[in-house]
Amino acid sequence: MSEQAFEKRRETAIREAEIRCQEVYSAIPEIAIIDKELSETGLKLFRAGMLPEVEREAEFTRLGGLTALLQQKRKSLLVENGYPEDYTRPHFQCEKCSDTGYIRHIMCDCLKKHIAEKNVRASGLGRYLDKQTFETFSLDYYPEKARASMRDTLEQCRAYADTFNGKTGESLLFLGSTGLGKTHLSSAIAQRVIAKGFSVVYDSAQTILSAFERDRFSQSVNKPSDKYFDCDLLIIDDLGTEIKGASATAYFYTLINTRLVASKSVIITTNLSAEDIRRQYEERIVSRLFCEYSVYFFEGNDIRKIKIEEQND
Ligand SMILES: [Zn+2]
Repeated sequence: MSEQAFEKRRETAIREAEIRCQEVYSAIPEIAIIDKELSETGLKLFRAGMLPEVEREAEFTRLGGLTALLQQKRKSLLVENGYPEDYTRPHFQCEKCSDTGYIRHIMCDCLKKHIAEKNVRASGLGRYLDKQTFETFSLDYYPEKARASMRDTLEQCRAYADTFNGKTGESLLFLGSTGLGKTHLSSAIAQRVIAKGFSVVYDSAQTILSAFERDRFSQSVNKPSDKYFDCDLLIIDDLGTEIKGASATAYFYTLINTRLVASKSVIITTNLSAEDIRRQYEERIVSRLFCEYSVYFFEGNDIRKIKIEEQND
């Protein structure tokens, strides 16, 4: 559901109920009279609040009884005429909060869920949603010798997501060739972290670099790269595929170092080997990655290829 649709859903439910109400008034004019009486009774109840205490109680009882009677009569009329007894009431998608998103100032689950879904869309994870979860991560695709280590990686990643609190700055580096599940596990972590209410941004190294380049031309106070600094968890996918250069190195160093100092977590995936990283990046970046990040080696055969071959069988 789009953001706008969520905000409008209460309004829509009320408007549709009003339309049904007008329909009922034409079909059963007596209900229009009852509704008028009910609203007058409501007004009298309100005024009764200002009466001296002795009279007030008696008036409350009398009006309360009258309201119950009118409501009962209204229901019966609706049912006798073939309508459901709640036909004119708004039909909210969430009955718990009447689509307001809050129950006595506490956020309702429906709004939490909506925000989580919105954050998934904003994270750049959209296309991996539903498909790449911990539940869909299968160890069967890994060769016997890699399975124990991958099982360990899977469990560590699950624990990482479950204990994520946005404060420790614990960061992960996933090394391994294409198709070994690095993106799968990082998006599984992201989804779980988002569900806990944290913000996650997921982008390729090249996209992040492009945002830094655009910063230079941005007139606004908010820079295109801000989200990479602000989010609770940043996932940099495919480090090493970006166009290299002195400015690229400087951008990544700033990003990695700033987040480290601020105790904000990062997950980096790369097809590069540890050796390649040492060769391609400056010492100050390399030392941050290998000293401060937990490093996981993904082993095995290209799972994407295996899956395609299976489908072709
Ligand atoms: Zn709700």
